[in-house]
Amino acid sequence: MDKCSFDNFKRTKDCLICIDSDGCAMDTMDIKHKHCFGPCMVREWGLEAHEKAVLDIWNEVNLYTMTRGTNRFKGLLLTMQLCGERGICHVEGYEEIRAWVDKASALSNTTLKAEIEDAEKEKRDCNALKKALDWSLRTNECIAALPEDEMLPFDGMIEKLEKMHEFADVAVVSSANPEAVRSEWNRHGLVSHIDIMLTQEVGPKSFCIKKMLEYGYDKDKVIMIGDAPGDRKSAEKTGVKFFPILVNHEVESWDRFMNEGLEKFTGAGFDEAYQNDINKAFDENLGEA
Ligand SMILES: [Mg+2]
Repeated sequence: MDKCSFDNFKRTKDCLICIDSDGCAMDTMDIKHKHCFGPCMVREWGLEAHEKAVLDIWNEVNLYTMTRGTNRFKGLLLTMQLCGERGICHVEGYEEIRAWVDKASALSNTTLKAEIEDAEKEKRDCNALKKALDWSLRTNECIAALPEDEMLPFDGMIEKLEKMHEFADVAVVSSANPEAVRSEWNRHGLVSHIDIMLTQEVGPKSFCIKKMLEYGYDKDKVIMIGDAPGDRKSAEKTGVKFFPILVNHEVESWDRFMNEGLEKFTGAGFDEAYQNDINKAFDENLGEA
């Protein structure tokens, strides 16, 4: 059965658990950033002489601080900016890419391609945009070529999903592309323990959660589990609860949810104080004191 649309979904429980994929259920963030995004930037802009420092900044921005999980083009800009501010190196084209990021309605390869076509028609300089697109496409190729056996779910995910599924409907809510999420969740047998899989083409995470709420769940009985500040924002925007998976402590975080959070969430005790407590741990883990 196709679980990737609302057509086949039926609410069967009072509770709904929404789970992000990359870096939350699937241990795929580190490898994508450390092997693909950062190294492809170094290659595209010829920054080999400063490779380690640039990669450290890339990882800081995209994995270990409050900008974790940000859009790739925003991550690129911030990395360029910090490379300059910290006196590591000047990365060509910041202003041009900034101007596009500030005005674009959506930040994707498709919208970037369209902007380059417009610029060429109007004979505007767009070398930096071409570089950004080239980098983004090469990064996608690099990710597609990553060995499947290094893109695994976090330990014990199947058992955890199985257990959650006894108490709640389970939805994957991810901003990754549908093919990647579908193939990862199928390959590892996770898909049989979920009810619906909502990805990039459905809409932003907050939109997906809002659509799920239309099935009649009480907001108090809906939770988003995620590893990035954007996941928390989507929960706050829709008025549902949030449980953070802490980077570098993912399995411990999941264990805490299974041993403590799940019972509070399905029963009682997942109150404001508890939410504040786990939010604080999330902020601290991303360097926000
Ligand atoms: Mg994530």
